[in-house]
Amino acid sequence: MKINISGLSEGILVYDFVKPAIELGLDQNFLGKVHAHVTLEKSAHQITVMVNASVKGLFVCDRCTDEFEEEVKTSFTSVYTWNNDGEADDDDFYILRKEDNIIDLDGSVKEYLLISIPLKLLCKKNCTIPDSVNVIEDVDPVADPRWEKLQKLIRTEKN
Ligand SMILES: [Zn+2]
Repeated sequence: MKINISGLSEGILVYDFVKPAIELGLDQNFLGKVHAHVTLEKSAHQITVMVNASVKGLFVCDRCTDEFEEEVKTSFTSVYTWNNDGEADDDDFYILRKEDNIIDLDGSVKEYLLISIPLKLLCKKNCTIPDSVNVIEDVDPVADPRWEKLQKLIRTEKN
């Protein structure tokens, strides 16, 4: 996801990038390709880059531990300038050297996708923890007489 900025005239340009998640350095939790829609605005002293990126992720549900797919989306704006006295402490503010011809978005797209993974991972909004009674019923109770009491208990609970 590289943009050649040498000889770029002032104005707005739009780019669409597609790159395999693995080539971006995203781990095996991410599937297929990362899509990034980029709007670049060049003015006399700086380049502003607005990025909308998305990728499919394979996650494990926090409640039922099932695997599920979910799209991770992110958007951010980065500013590149040749002017040295900008607020360089800002994460999204980059100082360009005169000889820099390329803006490489790979690093920031990766970082922003990673911080956009939801803190709570649920396969569906109303996912519930599996019912423990059902788990007990999966055991064959006939083979062992000690299960009889438990079976009675389960039956009583159901009634
Ligand atoms: Zn779940």
